[in-house]
Amino acid sequence: MKIFSGKGVCGGISIGKLNVIFNNNSTVKRMHIDDIEKEITRFRNAKNRASEELRKLYEKALKEIGETNASIFEIHQMMLDDEDYVESVENIIKTQSVNAEYAVLVTSDNFSDMFSRMDDEYMKARSADVKDISERIINAMNESVKEENKSDEPSIILAYDLAPSQTVQLDKDRVLSFVTSGGSSNSHTAILAKSMNIPSIIGCNINITDSLDGKFAIVDGFTGKLYLEPTDDILEEMRKKQREDKEKQELLFNLKGKENITLDGKKINLYANIGNVRDLASVFMNDAEGIGLFRSEFIYLERDEFPSEEEQFRIYRQVAETMAGKKVIIRTLDIGADKQADYFNLEKEENPAMGYRAIRICIKQPNIFKTQLKAIFRASVFGNISVMYPMITSVSEISKIKEIVQEVKNELNAEQQKFTDIPQGIMIETPASAIISDVLAKEVDFFSIGTNDLTQYLLAVDRQNSKIDDFYDDHHPALLRLIKYVIENAHNNGIWAGICGELGADTSLTETFLKMGIDELSVSPSEVLKVRKKIREINLSK
Ligand code: PEP
Ligand code: MG
Repeated sequence: MKIFSGKGVCGGISIGKLNVIFNNNSTVKRMHIDDIEKEITRFRNAKNRASEELRKLYEKALKEIGETNASIFEIHQMMLDDEDYVESVENIIKTQSVNAEYAVLVTSDNFSDMFSRMDDEYMKARSADVKDISERIINAMNESVKEENKSDEPSIILAYDLAPSQTVQLDKDRVLSFVTSGGSSNSHTAILAKSMNIPSIIGCNINITDSLDGKFAIVDGFTGKLYLEPTDDILEEMRKKQREDKEKQELLFNLKGKENITLDGKKINLYANIGNVRDLASVFMNDAEGIGLFRSEFIYLERDEFPSEEEQFRIYRQVAETMAGKKVIIRTLDIGADKQADYFNLEKEENPAMGYRAIRICIKQPNIFKTQLKAIFRASVFGNISVMYPMITSVSEISKIKEIVQEVKNELNAEQQKFTDIPQGIMIETPASAIISDVLAKEVDFFSIGTNDLTQYLLAVDRQNSKIDDFYDDHHPALLRLIKYVIENAHNNGIWAGICGELGADTSLTETFLKMGIDELSVSPSEVLKVRKKIREINLSK
């Protein structure tokens, strides 16, 4: 038996086989490989897949944009079969015993550098093409991971890190746990693990190699320990812990149907955060009174192209109808930073968390925004929907949003589509919005404090960077003072304020938030009953 440790991001015990996933969408890592032949086959399969993709693209382009423009895909197809390129990749895998993604990346860098130094302009231009085909092969390897993962047996996913777009595409019924060696506890993968309520560990000190695939292991999400090939004693101990946890959960279930009310009679709204329709089951199981944050960008991350208005309308309508009159707050697209979908064609940025993301994309590319708003407004007649805008920093952004919303309403009227005038709120997740919350409160119907980003921007601590997890102090007095200030400004202007960041589920702060006058807490579905229990134990008059 070997024991590895990291940070547990969601409690619970899971027991099963490891399923190693090698890739990381944004950064390819060098990893040691034992089975060279298998790795070369992975590379060749991915290359064939990329070639097939290019063939289809060529045919499509030929019809739509003519032969001259389509020829680029033919050139790329030929480049994929270039002997020097293929030899270089396979040689790196063999001689360095490394993963295929890494070998492709090194070859890509070497070849594109070589092309860029040539005098001939035509050859110079091939530099970008090499990068392009290499990226395609690496992506094809990611795709094949999904397909290789065919066993129906649920397993423990072991990876360097998982991009949110990958996490959302995994078949949740086959995932027992996530264990990543990278990643931070505030990343969206960690948030997703919590919303799926599966024991998970991030920053685990394990060297991920393909030989781990299929090995038996235990994840203890409470202590952040991973037991590889556990002894019978540990297996027995963990099974006992698993049973005890189940009993505790069952006790919490006794709180279903009870009010979220303190001992001295203060009631608050306790809602759940969701990312898609599938999460609704968990919302009901845990008896949340509404949905305080529907991260709509996950709809976009699950697809290979923009979801249409109709498609989105059906999703929002289903959520609103299922919640049957209970509040559903849909946050508009918060794409960008760690949440990337290829078809947005977002450029690589030095500081993506502070870059072109969320409301900024929506304001600059209003067509994308309008499609989503139309779907949300149309769904509004089927339930109790509110809309919420992310990453707000200024009044001028709100003015721009109002203009766009007005255009959407005009278009819906012209199309004779029904909609209602739903409440419109904003996330308070940038220091600027918190500091001018007295002004912003006059412009909107509610505030929802996004403590995940607010902490990152306020403390200048990248929430994605596991190295600085210790500096991500979400009990920092600056953050707590700011939250208090935002709530006061909301109330002074007659609107409500809630928290939908992860801090809302931190029961060591529930009393503090209630004393500050918070009106709503929106947490992962699996945390609703834990927070309800805490609220019911508090006496604010003491
Ligand atoms: C937040 O920033 O606190 C939040 C709720 O949004 P997200 O975690 O999706 O960025
Ligand atoms: Mg946020």
